[in-house]
Amino acid sequence: MSQTYVYWEDPLRDTFDIRVISCTPEGENFHVEIDSPVARPEGGGQAGDRGLLVLSDAEVRVVDTVEREGRVILVTKTEVAPGASAKLLIDMEWRRGMMRNHSAEHLFVASMKRVRDVELGYIWISGERGTVDLHGKDITLDEIARGEREVQRLILQDLPMHSRMVPVDQLSEEVRAREGVTRRHGEVRVVSFGDFDSSACSGTHVLSTGYIGCFKVVDCKHFPDRVRVEFLTHERALGLLSDVFNVVLSRKDSYPFEIEQLGPVLDRAKRLIQQREELVHVLEEIITTQAPSERVGDVSLVALYLPGMEPGDLRRLVKRMRFDGKMAVLLFAPGKKSNLIFAINDLPAEAREYIQPLVEQNGGRGGGSREVFTGGFARLEDPRAVFNRIADGLRERLRSG
Ligand SMILES: [Zn+2]
Repeated sequence: MSQTYVYWEDPLRDTFDIRVISCTPEGENFHVEIDSPVARPEGGGQAGDRGLLVLSDAEVRVVDTVEREGRVILVTKTEVAPGASAKLLIDMEWRRGMMRNHSAEHLFVASMKRVRDVELGYIWISGERGTVDLHGKDITLDEIARGEREVQRLILQDLPMHSRMVPVDQLSEEVRAREGVTRRHGEVRVVSFGDFDSSACSGTHVLSTGYIGCFKVVDCKHFPDRVRVEFLTHERALGLLSDVFNVVLSRKDSYPFEIEQLGPVLDRAKRLIQQREELVHVLEEIITTQAPSERVGDVSLVALYLPGMEPGDLRRLVKRMRFDGKMAVLLFAPGKKSNLIFAINDLPAEAREYIQPLVEQNGGRGGGSREVFTGGFARLEDPRAVFNRIADGLRERLRSG
């Protein structure tokens, strides 16, 4: 007789009466062997069931389920007395997530095989997300998107799931190809979705594809010989889709663009960042070789307002500038957080004595060494006015010696 499991026949059943056979410490956990294989152990690329053991005097959380030599083991954080009777409540949010993610994985891999030549590699299915490696040369995002659309179409068709036990030697080549099956003997379980796909599989699945609800690829890592695809289903997929779309909606009025133009808008942002870097480089050359300076008393002062510069840019600039005789340099970069750097040469007092009071009067903070002071301001209404006030205060202070 071939073995079958309740989580194959009735994956939505969530309460079982069980008895504890043994309990052994295992690292930080306890391995609780139970008398009946009602929880699905980790295996075949799918995570194990989670849940709650309700005993007469306590409730013990089940953080995982594993199999050891054919026995089902609940993994807990607390010890459980051998011989105890208990109710096992399966964590159905986690279970339903695995059913959806695992069935979606079957449909996605089968869809990708129709799009192009791919082989399934690594799989990991949890209650939260699915991860699959598709092996094939230079798999493109466009091909993955076509596979994704096919899965979405199959969900709308609400194809029924069928499973049956088939002797290994009667499996078709296509079904046999799925990992590990050829090494087994006797009968294996074959999971089919309508006529679309049949795969040998011991995992938990939805009863029909409509239950998956929604399928969305959320990340692709490309390698020359494979791609690792991460995906979400149902409420996690819908939640992420809404979040991403709403980020766009919230910007749409202040930064007018059509949603269809999102790609070009991101391209433009990338181009602007590159251009800013080039511009900073050009500016850096000019400032370090011929910075515009003014005489204040017997001091030569460079005071510059530099939108688009970042704190690292300011530090690099000051490091590269040539300091000769009595000099003071004030560089100010406005932004969400505005930054300034103040450096002196050959002046009687320390840098902070000139600048710190002015920074603090304007709501900023900072510190530094004898020669260099750096300061920052959170959310300035009018950074240009703040820079002007600090520069004027500095001129006054330098004039007084
Ligand atoms: Zn499977």
